[in-house]
Amino acid sequence: MAWSQRIEQALRVQRDSARWRQRRTVTDNRVRMLTLDGQRYRHFSSNDYLGLSQHPAVIAAWQQGASSAGVGAGASGHVTGYSRDHAELEAALAAWLGYSRALLFISGFAANQAVIHLLAEKQDRILADKLAHASLLDAARHTPAMLRRFAHNQPQSLARLLAAPCAGDSLVVTEGIFSMDGDSAPLQAVAHHTQQAGGWLLVDDAHGIGVTGEQGRGSCWQQQVKPDLLIITFGKAFGVSGAALLCDTPVAEYVLQFSRHLIYSTAMPPAQCTALRAALTQIQHGDALRARLQENIARFRAGAVGLPWPLMASSSAIQPLVVGENAAALALSARLAQAGYWVSAIRPPTVPPGTARLRITLTAAHRPDDIDGLLEALYDAAG
Ligand SMILES: *Cc1c(COP(=O)(O)O)cnc(C)c1O
Repeated sequence: MAWSQRIEQALRVQRDSARWRQRRTVTDNRVRMLTLDGQRYRHFSSNDYLGLSQHPAVIAAWQQGASSAGVGAGASGHVTGYSRDHAELEAALAAWLGYSRALLFISGFAANQAVIHLLAEKQDRILADKLAHASLLDAARHTPAMLRRFAHNQPQSLARLLAAPCAGDSLVVTEGIFSMDGDSAPLQAVAHHTQQAGGWLLVDDAHGIGVTGEQGRGSCWQQQVKPDLLIITFGKAFGVSGAALLCDTPVAEYVLQFSRHLIYSTAMPPAQCTALRAALTQIQHGDALRARLQENIARFRAGAVGLPWPLMASSSAIQPLVVGENAAALALSARLAQAGYWVSAIRPPTVPPGTARLRITLTAAHRPDDIDGLLEALYDAAG
């Protein structure tokens, strides 16, 4: 089939199965409030859990960084793009999280690709949680290593897979807090089985870092587990963008020598590093923000008990309401939009078929009446 026909057919299937993805133009995003296509909504679809994208100190740090260093790094970090701002941010992250080294990446997607590509060779195997993020699973699929998926958050299922013989090394991959379900991985048990089998553990804590654990150090710190490879991302609670790998010195040197994602890609702008340093300071002193977020989560969960749709067992900022069919999830999302609440519907293939959902996210920026209003709109929609 020719490309033009293939494209046409794929688009038709996408439309007919209510999977069509549509971008909307945001004209104003203040974490709590969102203006989309000229309409103002109370916003319940942001991963900016602490509201730091709007924090004056973070904004000022980016502005000052840009004034002194310009807006771009100008080259890969291996050429002349690695500045003192990068070095200081890496050192601060490593010290904060108790690792020898931190390496910056332009995004979490890139970091996961880079690390998994580099480690997994033909004789190795990757054992990933069934619900691991697309950036982890795609990376694994594109290596010559074997990929096996264990049942979501079931250490016994992982243990069974680890018991099978393997000529090479085993890389176990999971998340701290799962992006579409909001539940936490049982990291102690996962780490225990991994260690017993002599494997390495990679934890992607995109949704835990900044939000949970002492000083916001994330899911691993909270569960007292130190994975061999920790990925944190800066597009969520940090309110900015980018990512870092935390690891020991030999791994960091190996990644620096061989990672094409670092060698052949322009480094993060130095001013962004300055902003991230400021965001890190806010996170380290962010107990009040984290407490407000927890109150908002508790308020929402307490109010949602009577809704007809099952609320997933999540104590995180991600509170998914499972609707089932794609069209029904879209209809509920549209109904909430009419009432002035923006909540995105998440459909397959992002989530398993038949579990289309509203992925409601709470932030420290929400006020009690925002949450009460959302609940009222949901009860109205339930009829
Ligand atoms: C968002 C996310 C990523 C991707 O991070 P970006 O920095 O947005 O590219 C990776 N892993 C998980 C679990 C995520 O939720």
